[in-house]
Amino acid sequence: MTTAEIIKHADVFLLDMDGTVYFDDAPIGSMAETLTTLRRAGKKLVFFTNNSSKTPDEYEKKLKRIGLWGAGDLVYTSAMATIEYLSEFYPGKPVYLVATDAVKAEFAAAGVPLTEEDPAICVLAYDTTLTFEKLKKINKFIAEGALYIATHPDDVCPSKDVFPPDVGSFIALLKVSSGKTPAVICGKPFTVMGDCIKRRMKASADRVVMVGDRLHTDIRFGVNNGFHTILVLSGETKEEDLASSPDRPEGVLPSLNDAVKYL
Ligand SMILES: [Mg+2]
Repeated sequence: MTTAEIIKHADVFLLDMDGTVYFDDAPIGSMAETLTTLRRAGKKLVFFTNNSSKTPDEYEKKLKRIGLWGAGDLVYTSAMATIEYLSEFYPGKPVYLVATDAVKAEFAAAGVPLTEEDPAICVLAYDTTLTFEKLKKINKFIAEGALYIATHPDDVCPSKDVFPPDVGSFIALLKVSSGKTPAVICGKPFTVMGDCIKRRMKASADRVVMVGDRLHTDIRFGVNNGFHTILVLSGETKEEDLASSPDRPEGVLPSLNDAVKYL
């Protein structure tokens, strides 16, 4: 399909956030107007992120504050996909969760039994309050055989400053110390989060488009899940990176703001 056909045909727009709709607190170009135009055209907008350090409520507040939230929008995070995965395949199993307090409360409220001792499962989320005590605990539990799940694989977190370590860096640390790697990673580019969002949106894959600025997470995610894919050049990826990448987007736009001319 051409970029124009994808934009006309898709019902669900999965929108990466950092580098796609905003940078930190600054919307990219005329993003508020762009999102309004997409909603008016009947598109369902899902703010779709691997970042599991914040709850959907926290993201919604931020999107409202910077003027990008609209009625009917949804936030979906890799932590939400992990909760759905645990509820489907391991209901009632005790989980040791490395996460911020707000995300821990989100798991508990969804009925995931959290424990500090003898877990059947360990979940590594993006804990921006990580301590040595938490690292020591998860290292011990996974070394002793607990099922090891990570919310997402990103090595670093986008930032205007030096990129800070993200879950992928913690996975690398724990591989050195325990010899273990996650049995399951839920977020982009893998299929757990794709299966969850298809179910949630009651959408067939060919009516979904993933829009993002990263080839090896956003675009690979779309391809792995059978979704349409549009790369935006407003963030991490530059046009010259495309030639050497194994990840091939169906469409490429300077930014999401350029999508509206195809409606
Ligand atoms: Mg991004």
